[in-house]
Amino acid sequence: MAHTLPALPYDFKALEPHIDAQTMEIHSQRHHKAYVDNLNKALESAPDQAAKDIVTLLREIKTVPDAVRQAVINNGGGHHNHALFWEVMAPSAGGEPTGAIGDAIKAAFGDFAKFKDTVKQNALTQFGSGWSWLVWDPAGAKVAAVKKPNQDSPLMDGHVPLLGCDVWEHAYYLKYQNKRADYVDAWWNVVNWKKVDELLAKAKAGK
Ligand code: MN
Repeated sequence: MAHTLPALPYDFKALEPHIDAQTMEIHSQRHHKAYVDNLNKALESAPDQAAKDIVTLLREIKTVPDAVRQAVINNGGGHHNHALFWEVMAPSAGGEPTGAIGDAIKAAFGDFAKFKDTVKQNALTQFGSGWSWLVWDPAGAKVAAVKKPNQDSPLMDGHVPLLGCDVWEHAYYLKYQNKRADYVDAWWNVVNWKKVDELLAKAKAGK
């Protein structure tokens, strides 16, 4: 089963002015595509892994043969992280989450402002490339904020990613150059809390 590049659920320009159309096109059609292509290429030499969906592949990363494991971490992680990233953003979104996700954030962080500050600090202190994540931690039965380098997936830690802010320079450099903080501040305006709430419900149900 070859992995495939998902279609964006909106136009390249849909997230403007917060994320520009050119960045969205290059990010999704070139960067994400490269992760998908390189994942499929790596799996050619690991046929026992070919039938696994991307979530299973990353959750069971320890069972991937040594020879291709790092390629799967990089490119499989890159594929899943980006597929999620497009889904948890939307035009006319942002604001403060309500419902189960809003309650889970308040329970874990105190209030929404403290949560945003934690995610931003994780984004700004991730040296080099990586992601700032909100995850579901099944062991603690709570949401948590974590930062991860490169394309390392939270799935490899037993966590379920719910919301991720891509802080690779390719995610923001055309519009924000070196100003990662400005990009993160703007990114909150496109967070699709409805989708994050759905992902939380699925994660709690163990799906
Ligand atoms: Mn990216």
